[in-house]
Amino acid sequence: YSAYLYLAMSNYAESNGFKGISNWFIVQSQEELDHAMKFYNYVHSMGETLELGAIDKPEPRWNSIIDVFENGLTHEKYVTQRIHKLMDIAHEVKDYAAISMLQWFVNEQIEEESSFRDILDKLKLTGGDVNYLMVLDGELGQRVRTPPQSETNE
Ligand code: FE
Repeated sequence: YSAYLYLAMSNYAESNGFKGISNWFIVQSQEELDHAMKFYNYVHSMGETLELGAIDKPEPRWNSIIDVFENGLTHEKYVTQRIHKLMDIAHEVKDYAAISMLQWFVNEQIEEESSFRDILDKLKLTGGDVNYLMVLDGELGQRVRTPPQSETNE
């Protein structure tokens, strides 16, 4: 769902003339798919299987590009809560393998929230000035996907 939500945000940015921000969200969307695969691979490596469920349709109810990033930050905070909840359960049942796997996600969520916060701070600093917004858009257009470790090792 995170990947799908960020694709919707990319779509919004692209439609509103923010090509760089659109690129940033495409990369963000790809990274969320990588994260989903981390769970997928973990479950299989433990000899278990998964049931694939339906993915909700993202509802693009954003009024501005700041609104998009506010919503993204809110979403990441929600994901952080879900990861922490999984960690609580792993501790309850003393599942040390899960604890180790989930620790990666705990650390990742710190970065996720922080990157949304940083961009939000910069967006607010532009004060809506188009020239500054375009500089920031250009900066975010530089983002490229970093393939996960498992892919680079192969
Ligand atoms: Fe995320």
